[in-house]
Amino acid sequence: MRVYNFAAGPSCLPENVLKKAQEELLDFSGTGMSICEISHRDKAFGAVVAEAESLVRELLCVPDDYAVIFVQGGASTQFAAVPLNLMHTGKADYIVTGNFAKKAWQEGQIYGEANKIADTSDKTYTYIPDLSSLRYTEGADYLHITSNNTIFGSVYADFPECAAPLVADMSSEIFSREIDVSKFAVIYAGAQKNLAPAGVTIVIAKRELIQDPLKICPTMLRWKVQDENGSMYNTPPCFAIYMADLVLKDLKAKGGVKAMHEVDVYKANLLYDFIDNSKLYKNYVEKKYRSIMNIPFVTGSDELDAKFVAEAKKAGLLSLKGHRLVGGMRASIYNAMPVEGVKALIGFMKKFETENA
Ligand SMILES: *Cc1c(COP(=O)(O)O)cnc(C)c1O
Repeated sequence: MRVYNFAAGPSCLPENVLKKAQEELLDFSGTGMSICEISHRDKAFGAVVAEAESLVRELLCVPDDYAVIFVQGGASTQFAAVPLNLMHTGKADYIVTGNFAKKAWQEGQIYGEANKIADTSDKTYTYIPDLSSLRYTEGADYLHITSNNTIFGSVYADFPECAAPLVADMSSEIFSREIDVSKFAVIYAGAQKNLAPAGVTIVIAKRELIQDPLKICPTMLRWKVQDENGSMYNTPPCFAIYMADLVLKDLKAKGGVKAMHEVDVYKANLLYDFIDNSKLYKNYVEKKYRSIMNIPFVTGSDELDAKFVAEAKKAGLLSLKGHRLVGGMRASIYNAMPVEGVKALIGFMKKFETENA
């Protein structure tokens, strides 16, 4: 029996996509082999990468002068790749709105002067700083932000307007809302939140800005090299890219990012409305900055939270335990989470509230 999986990542994938992968597992596209067994230089796999790239371009309206590449090492490796490709004068700005943003900032410090220009830890990362009052470093090589904070459940409503190139970690929200890619120098996202199984990371980068990586930048982390080699400088994560391609095709068939966003907002509002109107559950993120992907909530009692997680599991609602930094619960309701899953969660929350009031 399939359960509803609210994990933050790796996370649920569309059931029809999993079935398609199952169907094709022993014989991919008439090759008589699994996608996992085909050479990455084979035409059949080349077509998969090309299609995945073109779908990313189409679904996010990526301008032609941007590279779209598939790389390995997760979003965490991009924390290093960002300074290694962009930190030419040795200084950059970071906005720290959560744990991953902090890690990105810390990684930046290895390579140069990484200035933390705002930090929302004073209120346990429950808001995004006021963008109009930010003070940027003169001549910074880039400004790094984490657009959706997976652990704390906050999201940028708008993006900073700054002179420096804007770099965004969009791991936990890519393909959940329309974005103007031309406002960003670089967007990167690990796939295991809202796109595919773990193993592949998408990087979208303005080509003119990535031509001159630092001397010490490892070849594998040079976005320019990956771009010139069509994401195949070495053996790429073939299966993860294949799964990403299937999910992207499915997203296109469902109406693309705009249509998906409407469903995502609908699902998130169902849950937030229920939480806000209940006596037992609370979400502490400032309303304006609430994520539509990751929704943390607490009962106010650690004991009751633990009971909630255990009983939810018995009811087929899995991985609702909050991150160890936050405690409580967290429902990650990515694109692949059906509306019925959110309704089932709300039904359970109601019942739990009545029984434990
Ligand atoms: C999960 C996550 C990461 C870390 O991803 P890895 O692929 O495990 O390196 C980084 N940033 C954000 C926003 C995330 O949600």
